[in-house]
Amino acid sequence: MKTKNGIFLLSILVTFLLGADLMSQTSLQADTMDNVIRAVTDQYPGASLQAVERGVRHAGSLWRAEDGDDAFFKAFCLKHYIADPAERLRVFQKLNHYFEAIMGHTNEIYLALKKHTDEPTGPLHEIDRMFSAFSPDAHLMQDLYQSRIAFVTALNFPRFTLAEKNRLGPDWSAEEWAMARLGDVFSSRVPAEIKQHAARVSSQADLYISGYNIHMGALRDNDGRKLFRDDQVLLTHWNLRDEIKANYADGELGPRRQRMVYQVMKRIIDQTIPKDVIDSYAYQWNPFANETRKNGRAVDLEREPDIRYEMLRQVFLARRAMDPFHPHMPTCIERNFSGSMEVPQEQVEALFHQFLSSPLLKKVAQVVEKRLGRKLAAYDIWYDGFKSRGSIPQDQLDAITRKRFPNARAFKDAMPEILRELGFSPESAEFLAAKITVDPARGSGHAWGAGMRDSLSHLRTRVGKDGMDYKGFNIAVHEFGHNVEQTLSLHNVPYFFLNGVPNTAFTEALAFLFQKRDLEILDMEPGDAAAENLAVLDACWSAFEIMGVSMVDMKVWKWLYAHPDASAAELKEAVITIAIDVWNRYFSESFGVRDEPVLAIYSHMISYPLYLSAYAYGQLIEFQLGEYLEDKPFGAEVERIWSLGRLTPSVWMIRATGTDLSPQPLIRASERALKKLK
Ligand SMILES: [Zn+2]
Repeated sequence: MKTKNGIFLLSILVTFLLGADLMSQTSLQADTMDNVIRAVTDQYPGASLQAVERGVRHAGSLWRAEDGDDAFFKAFCLKHYIADPAERLRVFQKLNHYFEAIMGHTNEIYLALKKHTDEPTGPLHEIDRMFSAFSPDAHLMQDLYQSRIAFVTALNFPRFTLAEKNRLGPDWSAEEWAMARLGDVFSSRVPAEIKQHAARVSSQADLYISGYNIHMGALRDNDGRKLFRDDQVLLTHWNLRDEIKANYADGELGPRRQRMVYQVMKRIIDQTIPKDVIDSYAYQWNPFANETRKNGRAVDLEREPDIRYEMLRQVFLARRAMDPFHPHMPTCIERNFSGSMEVPQEQVEALFHQFLSSPLLKKVAQVVEKRLGRKLAAYDIWYDGFKSRGSIPQDQLDAITRKRFPNARAFKDAMPEILRELGFSPESAEFLAAKITVDPARGSGHAWGAGMRDSLSHLRTRVGKDGMDYKGFNIAVHEFGHNVEQTLSLHNVPYFFLNGVPNTAFTEALAFLFQKRDLEILDMEPGDAAAENLAVLDACWSAFEIMGVSMVDMKVWKWLYAHPDASAAELKEAVITIAIDVWNRYFSESFGVRDEPVLAIYSHMISYPLYLSAYAYGQLIEFQLGEYLEDKPFGAEVERIWSLGRLTPSVWMIRATGTDLSPQPLIRASERALKKLK
């Protein structure tokens, strides 16, 4: 493996760093901070000791030798500490202006650099791809430290921990919230080499996963029969999972194919898969007996030598190398949950545990079993039969949307009317529509938010030459929901630093709430009640699955932190044990099968670790907001809620719906759907 030496050296470095004091990344002497705090409070007797202490320690934790010696740090703090509240507020307002200018214009530069790769402007030239990949702000943070803007900011607007934000935040004014958000801007300073190394390891893991194809035509069952087409090349795990889903429609061959796909998954998980059948047609492979043949002759092949787990191990080590530079969040687990998601890991696990151990799983499992007419298998966590076809024929829908939206411009012109139909006031509808522009997209479309109030939010949508088909319209309405969120949470917050939503789940929730109302927008009857019940059960079933794999993901990372020196083989054993434990704890009773490793197959676990929880958590949020909005005026409440700004998820949810994050709305909706189905 190419980077093995690098990794080895790095892990020695990391062990050394971890052994030292966690604050050791600062270049300041241990007593300098206390000295400076005393000096500042002496100079500004009216200043709050708590505020001075917080500011000096925050700025000090970011200080490095190249920034100056201890005496210089002291002089810097004495000179730049702002004790007068009126002056502090003035400076805060100026910082809002300057950062909006930097972020907003940087965003405009990115839009311009990616214009030709994002919009269908004609044939692409190599120079387009080069600019599309170019980062004009790659050194921005470094420059903000060098100019000392970062230190003035950190000294006067220090960071608050997640626990503090959740404890104090309910009583904070918008101004206090925005100041706390400014405190998050300069919260860590990881050396470029360590970041680059982590990026290299991540892209290596990405590459490994993106090349992990199974040539389905090369598979044989125990009778030597071929069940798949030669041209079926399926990527692990996404395509393999989707193949299981697709085969529910085929009563004949379906179950045999599903069993075979699951058998392949098990061989990937325990790494008994022959190395040379990965991404190759060279051999015929029976995954049940694990026998390989070439031209009818049996051949012995070596198994994959635990590379899957070596990748994960390297990703872990590269991320752990950043730990010493985050004294407030010294593990990758904390940075992912308390940091990025802003929900403590224990709370996420508790939410998932509550949902997974509700009696609901057993009840829905019984429905699935009945609909399948057979006992459940582990791979039925991907049961796909709750989808309803919809009562209106596709052709009819296509004809309606093509006529109404012959081009992107027509969608742009219809935006105020669409918003009024959704219950927004005429003034809000006009305002929002004026801030969103519609561009044709090269890909399937996306929503690109504005970075400052002077810019527009872009809705990119794909329109065929004979107009927008229903699928395109459905996606455009989803993206439109994102644009509305982006606009409300930028323009309706009193300070730039408050712009946005707590995390991506909160913008996805609004996009899905819009998308669900797409037939309403076309003045058509919303889907029938039976279809709606099925959709709820579909969401519920997939929430069980995704929470199960998220549980495995979280427990694996905890295990890694407890066993940082584990080999790839030891890690493999641990992952399998954890996956089976989670299965036996939550799923085995409802499914009637024990000791299944199925929850360990997700590729995210290898290349996007700890990301899976965000999906599951997003589903809970969507149902909580959906339930709250059910009997409320949609437009007015959307406007109120998505103007709250970037609070923490917990404070945001309480201000939005009156209750903290909870799995109960999804449980209630599923129980209702089950009753109606009977
Ligand atoms: Zn979306």
